[in-house]
Amino acid sequence: MLYLSTRGDPSRKHFCEILLEGLAPDGGLYLPAHYPQVDEATLSKWRAIYQDQGYAALAFEVLSLYIDDIPPADLKALCDKTYTEAVFGTKDIVPLKELEDHFYLEALSNGPTLAFKDMAMQLLGNLFEYELARRGEQLNILGATSGDTGSAAEYAMRGKKGVRVFMTSPHGRMSPFQQAQMFSLMDDNIHNIAIEGVFDDCQDIVKAVSNDLDFKRKYRIGTVNSINWARLLAQVVYYFAGYFQATRTNSETVSFTVPSGNFGNICAGHVARMMGLPVQKLVAATNENDVLDEFFRTGIYRVRSSADTHETSSPSMDISKASNFERFVFDLLGRDGARVKALFGEALSQNGRFDLSADPLFKDAATRYGFVSGKSTHADRLATIRDTWQRFALMIDTHTADGVKVAREHLTPGVPMIVLETALPIKFAETIVEALGCEPDRPLRFEGIEALPKRVQVMPADADAIKRLIVENCG
Ligand SMILES: *Cc1c(COP(=O)(O)O)cnc(C)c1O
Repeated sequence: MLYLSTRGDPSRKHFCEILLEGLAPDGGLYLPAHYPQVDEATLSKWRAIYQDQGYAALAFEVLSLYIDDIPPADLKALCDKTYTEAVFGTKDIVPLKELEDHFYLEALSNGPTLAFKDMAMQLLGNLFEYELARRGEQLNILGATSGDTGSAAEYAMRGKKGVRVFMTSPHGRMSPFQQAQMFSLMDDNIHNIAIEGVFDDCQDIVKAVSNDLDFKRKYRIGTVNSINWARLLAQVVYYFAGYFQATRTNSETVSFTVPSGNFGNICAGHVARMMGLPVQKLVAATNENDVLDEFFRTGIYRVRSSADTHETSSPSMDISKASNFERFVFDLLGRDGARVKALFGEALSQNGRFDLSADPLFKDAATRYGFVSGKSTHADRLATIRDTWQRFALMIDTHTADGVKVAREHLTPGVPMIVLETALPIKFAETIVEALGCEPDRPLRFEGIEALPKRVQVMPADADAIKRLIVENCG
C-alpha cells in the first residue's frame, strides 16, 4: 500500500515513512492510494476471527491491508501487545451496550485515560517504539493539550524506548482529575509543562518550535496530533467490531453516530465504509461549535475565529476547524488534489471559508457517502444525561450525550444505530453533578489520584524557554 497527499503532490510513500510525520510536504494530509475492498467472504472471515480470537486479531487483519513494510509476525505481536484486557478493562475491548431495541453505545473509553483516544494512541506508542528501534533513532514529541489528547499521548508513550514527551498545558485550567491523570506520571521520559497562559499560548509555542526547522531537525521534534494516519487507521478497526456485535449476518446494515470535533473518529468510519463495511449513515454530532454540522447542512465550510469558538461542557469537541475534514473532501471531490489545494491551501487561508453548495458533488456527501449531521447544546446534554440515567440507570459523559441526542434524530426503522461512547463521565464531573445532582462513578483504579504526588514544571509562555528545556533533557 502506498500513501499520497490530499493536495496532489505526485510522491508516494509507505506506511512507516509517514508514521512519524505530520502533514505531507505540500501541506496536505496522507491517505492510502486506494481503499482495499472487503468482500462478503472476507467480512465473514473477519467476523469469525473477531468472535474466536478477539479484537487484537481483527486489528491485525485490518492493519495488514494498509501496512506492508512491517513483517506480519511483528505487526501481529504489536496488535497483541496493544489490545489487551489489562489495558482496556474488558476482554471485548469495545463492548456494545444496548440501551433500547436497535440502539447501542459502543464503549471506546475503558483504556488508561478513559477516552477513546487511547484506542489509537496505545497502538501508536507501540508502533513508534518499534520503528524508532528499527531505525536506531529517537523522537521528542512536543504537544499542547487542554485534556484528552495529552493524557492519552503520555499514557501511550510512558516508558517507551526512544521517545520523550514534552506536553504543554495551560496552567491551572484543566480539571483536577485531568491534571492528576497527567501530572502523577513519574516516568523519566514524560515531561509535563504547565504554561502560564491559555491553550492558544501552548499551541503557539508548539508552532514556534516546529517552525524553527534547524531546531526541529537537530532535536528530532515530532507530534502525535489527530492528523496522524496511523491513529486514524487504528480507529477503523472498532467500526468493524461494532458492526459484528450489532449484527448476525453480513446482509444487515448499521448506522454510526460519532461525537465529532477534528473529524478524526468519524473519518475512520468513512474509511471503513469505503472498504465495504455495510454502513447506512455516518452521523456527525457536534456541540455548539458546529463547523461540521453547518457544512453537512449547507455545503459551506467556515472556519471560526477564536472569539467565535465556544468553551462548552463537551470541551474535547470545541474546535474552530476540523483538522481531518480535508481527507473527506478529497474523496468527495473525486480525489482531485488540485481542487483540494485550491480550497484548503488558498480559499480557506484567504477567506476562512469555501462553499460547495452549488457543486453537484455536494449532495453525494449524504447520498453516496452516508454523511448526515446534527448539533447538541449544553441544555441538550443535561437533558440527555438525565434521561439516560433515569431510563437506563446508565451514566454517560457529555460528549457521548451529544452523540445520543443527535443519533435519535437520524434513526431508520430496523437499522441498528451505534453511538460511539468517547469518554467516561468521571472526566467531566462538574456537568454530571449539574445534570444529576450526584458525583459520577469513578473506576476503582482512579480512587484518590488527586492526592498523588505531581511531576510538573510551571513555565512562562516562551518558546525559547521550552527549547532550552528540550535541549537539557536530550543529554
Ligand atoms: C477527541 C474527542 C472527541 C472528538 O474526536 P475527533 O476525532 O476530534 O472528531 C470527542 N469526544 C472526546 C471525549 C474526545 O476526547
